[in-house]
Amino acid sequence: MAFDHAIVLGGSITGLLAAAAAAGEFERVTVVDRDELIVDGPDAENSRRGVPQGDQVHHLLALGAERIEDLLPGFDKDLLAAGGERHDNLAGFAAWMRSSWRVRFESDLALTCFTRPLFESVIRKRVLALPNVTALKSVVSGLIATEDNGTIIGARVKNAPDGQLLGDLVIDATGRGTKTPNWIQDLGYARPEESHLRVYMGYTCYRVEIPEGIFTDGVVSVASPSAADAKSTRSIVVWPCGRGQHIVVAFGALREYPPTDLAGIQELADSLDVPLLGEAIRSAKVLSEPKHYQMPGDQRILWEELDRRPEGFVVLGDAVASYNPAYGQGMTMAAVGSVELRAILRQASGDIVGVADAFQKGLAPHVDMAWNNALGIDSTYPGAEYENLTPPQPAPPEFSAAFVGLQSEDPEVALGARLAMHWMDNSYITTDSIQSKIAAWIEEGRQPKPESTDPTVIPRLVRA
Ligand SMILES: Cc1cc2nc3c(=O)[nH]c(=O)nc-3n(C[C@H](O)[C@H](O)[C@H](O)COP(=O)(O)OP(=O)(O)OC[C@H]3O[C@@H](n4cnc5c(N)ncnc54)[C@H](O)[C@@H]3O)c2cc1C
Repeated sequence: MAFDHAIVLGGSITGLLAAAAAAGEFERVTVVDRDELIVDGPDAENSRRGVPQGDQVHHLLALGAERIEDLLPGFDKDLLAAGGERHDNLAGFAAWMRSSWRVRFESDLALTCFTRPLFESVIRKRVLALPNVTALKSVVSGLIATEDNGTIIGARVKNAPDGQLLGDLVIDATGRGTKTPNWIQDLGYARPEESHLRVYMGYTCYRVEIPEGIFTDGVVSVASPSAADAKSTRSIVVWPCGRGQHIVVAFGALREYPPTDLAGIQELADSLDVPLLGEAIRSAKVLSEPKHYQMPGDQRILWEELDRRPEGFVVLGDAVASYNPAYGQGMTMAAVGSVELRAILRQASGDIVGVADAFQKGLAPHVDMAWNNALGIDSTYPGAEYENLTPPQPAPPEFSAAFVGLQSEDPEVALGARLAMHWMDNSYITTDSIQSKIAAWIEEGRQPKPESTDPTVIPRLVRA
């Protein structure tokens, strides 16, 4: 092995995937988390205190699925065997978009659906089964540096012998609330700058079992999402989460937080355009308590811009950037960052000097993709607040309306829109074909056809 010991701070999705990435390059990898990382038994699938968002809906983008498969071959199969479910994202997910349904058709874009604790537990089981990866339950309270503070050589870890773990690389995967900007400042480095876009959003989620016959024609999910320009930001989605169960998701932004109790959520569902949502929720068997979660918005710590940084220390996952969860990017970026880390470590061939800078600079363009995507959508909320950011130029409203309108009838455009999200790649929608369809829609002043604009009727599957 090129290196001796990697210390991963945080054992959630990012920490575990980073450990998988490091396992091939280090003799040993220690993952430290304040929670016990339980591998076997029913408690392994419980949500943990250290991950307060654990009971909220989570879905994985195709890019993330591909990167996790690269790190942990056969992972999707394991997830399905553990209770995940795979569904066609265009045929199975009925989405009401502003004032028309997205066209439904069979596609190759399949999503594996799960609960967040199940997903994490399958990753945990795979990673902690690696012979050179171990977990340690402990709070981390600081970094340890060489005398000149030039290199991080370990972390202060309460439950380790002498209260410290020493190694060649310390990987911060402690999430959005990371303390490492303070810790490196204490060592004499500049604190990295932060950018924020705040739209003050809230979620309430709970698991249900929906009786057979409520969703028909292969539909597994119904959404009446809030468009950023709609009169209310509140919305409801019913999303499959494996084992034949669903998660009810109530959402609100701009401090218009969703209700936190069952009666309030039923009332919200009944007030939305799509009556099937209220019906599904009313008939469902409730399997878990509603759990509420609020977050201010998109946050990015600009680690890549530091002029001077310590060697032997890298940061990834939510500790670098955390995004509006509506776009489902966080876990994908954990996987993207971990694959990038593995590549940088391989290039380093045993020399840790330069790894920190190369990694943060190499990660930044990937973070840009997710960040620009979140900003592009969140900036359309009136009243979005910006800190250390220039608001992006909004797309002209007629362009957005045409793009949404086309998705009500044109499988190419609907698939392109999903693929652009799933692969964080706008080239799926900037094709000549899609752009000329958008131009024609605007020029002809078209509107969605009546058969796609009735919220009481889920659209039938069409041939693509
Ligand atoms: C409401 C909501 C919904 C979301 N939905 C999606 C989604 O659909 N798709 C998606 O991809 N992402 C989603 N996300 C984002 C996703 O949860 C994160 O991106 C993902 O968990 C990866 O985060 P992380 O591992 O970097 O940090 P976290 O998951 O926050 O984990 C940090 C870990 O570090 C540990 N830790 C922290 N400090 C210390 C310390 N001092 N000592 C020891 N241990 C410590 C914690 O115990 C925890 O285990 C959502 C987020 C929210 C809030």
